[in-house]
Amino acid sequence: MLSTKTIENIVLNTQVSLKPDYLIHPTVSGNKYRKLKYNLQKVLSENYKGILTFGGAFSNHIAATAAAGQAVGIPTVGIIRGEELASKTNLNTTLNYAKSCGMHLEFVSRSDYKQKSDSSYLKTLSENFKNYYTLPEGGTNILAVKGCQEILTNKDQDFDMICCAVGTGGTMAGLINSSLPTQKIIGFPALKGGFLNEDICKFATQSNWELWESYHFGGYAKVDSNLITFMNHFKATYKIPLDPVYTAKMMYGIFDAIRLGKIPKEAKVLAIHTGGLQGINGMNLRLKQKHLETII
Ligand SMILES: *Cc1c(COP(=O)(O)O)cnc(C)c1O
Repeated sequence: MLSTKTIENIVLNTQVSLKPDYLIHPTVSGNKYRKLKYNLQKVLSENYKGILTFGGAFSNHIAATAAAGQAVGIPTVGIIRGEELASKTNLNTTLNYAKSCGMHLEFVSRSDYKQKSDSSYLKTLSENFKNYYTLPEGGTNILAVKGCQEILTNKDQDFDMICCAVGTGGTMAGLINSSLPTQKIIGFPALKGGFLNEDICKFATQSNWELWESYHFGGYAKVDSNLITFMNHFKATYKIPLDPVYTAKMMYGIFDAIRLGKIPKEAKVLAIHTGGLQGINGMNLRLKQKHLETII
């Protein structure tokens, strides 16, 4: 199995501590490590031939699955949204990285990609990739939630509020399940859309949670100059890098909520740094093309 590093909480100011889960493993970052852990154990113990999964061109889950597969010696296949990418000689940093870890990339049209959870499409894939273990987009399933239940430990029981960025909601469900009923779990969705509640409701065993939905900055992987300036200032002040897709939006939301009094002055807040730093290079290329401020 993959070996991890022990991590401690870092206090940012009197109210906010940050759990640097992004440092848990050198190549399998943050919550993606947590989500893969028990899935990898299953793949190894049940002798699957490899792992097949889905993602967009900048997906942290694709990068993490490729790295984890390489680390434990299992082949990985990534079904990637966007057939136009197949003919590109220069793949982006995320896909290049996945490829360098040995992941086999299959580029599919957006309409094919939409079928990623349909049983007939999955059946065709399983005929092409026999005895491969399938992980859904973002890697969320019951074993992923089990892994995310290990993010919080007994040492974290004094916190009143626990904050995380939300994509599919698997990570948040894990935090909810391992929290005390008196703690509140606050999720900051990184994308627009109300479908998020579904995945959280499906896996969460408690109701001590809320989504604060006004910090998505226009949608998934969308950023503006306020967010980039905030991230750069945060890094300069605390020497901690944030990623532009998830953790920066959460941290911006936390700081804003403190300013607005939505987080009470006396509250003890723990923010989970779920990783995703591999996405910075790709985002910086996009920002450079638009002649905008880049991430330091
Ligand atoms: C994938 C990801 C998330 C979202 O996790 P979900 O379990 O899908 O909600 C949050 N932060 C980072 C850095 C991620 O890579």
